[in-house]
Amino acid sequence: MLPLLIRKLLFLPPLLGLLLALASPQASGQIRKSCPGGIVLTVSAGVTGQGSLLLTKVLGPATLPAFSSDWDGRAIPLWSEDEKSATLHGLIGVDLEKPPGRYEWKVSWPGPDGDALTCSVFVTVRAGKFPTERLKVEKQFVQPDPEQQKRAEEDQKKMSAIYDTVTPERLWDGKFRLPLKGVTTGGNFGRRRILNGEARSPHAGVDFPAAAGTPVFTSQTGKVVLAEELFYSGNTVVVDHGYGIYTLYAHLSEIGVHPGEMVKAGAEIGKVGATGRVTGPHLHWGLTIDHARVNAMEIAQRQP
Ligand SMILES: [Zn+2]
Repeated sequence: MLPLLIRKLLFLPPLLGLLLALASPQASGQIRKSCPGGIVLTVSAGVTGQGSLLLTKVLGPATLPAFSSDWDGRAIPLWSEDEKSATLHGLIGVDLEKPPGRYEWKVSWPGPDGDALTCSVFVTVRAGKFPTERLKVEKQFVQPDPEQQKRAEEDQKKMSAIYDTVTPERLWDGKFRLPLKGVTTGGNFGRRRILNGEARSPHAGVDFPAAAGTPVFTSQTGKVVLAEELFYSGNTVVVDHGYGIYTLYAHLSEIGVHPGEMVKAGAEIGKVGATGRVTGPHLHWGLTIDHARVNAMEIAQRQP
């Protein structure tokens, strides 16, 4: 029998993980709004944090007209889970550096006389509570040489071109899953790093601790759009799930898929490693929705 204090301490990490997981969305209060024509809009939170995911719905009478929607001026695709349903779903990603403020989700559809009808819901985005790490290190470790700098910039252009592409169909079906078996707690999302007084871009993914060689599984069905070694993220796989939703798997020791390949939810796509700029083996898992960098845990915890 362990002394009580030690037993308590052993119990702490999972409990802390659970508390962090529950606290991280910083979201509250679903919004429900009645609009003309018996249309109802819902958004999962009226107040949310940077890096969060919002689930939206358009609930209509028996037949739904052609709806379009946008969030802060960007189109948000809407889909129905089955053809008979009078409910449309949409996902809004709130970028982890989105300036705090009030943003509009606007839905438009043709009215009975042909004029466009619109209805809006406003969501308040609050600053995320992310840990900040201040480090003082020798310059050579933070400043890549010109050649490395060039590689990193090319990688960034490549990623940006991928995220510019919005595949106009839903390739996934059902719930998004965590990418490792038996590892349910990940961390570091949104962590700000200040090296020698200089702010670095925030950490846009979730890090899962795992031994090198652990199989990595795709979170959902989709098309592999990148499978190669990048400067910072090492061996990287990016999967396009459609509607501007992408998941990314980084620092892999091995890549098991090719660009252009369709992968089924839960298929093995590689193995955990320590490639790229890392201090040890782990899986870095990213979720991007229309360029917005979102805490990937949220898509796995909440049924879209
Ligand atoms: Zn990471």
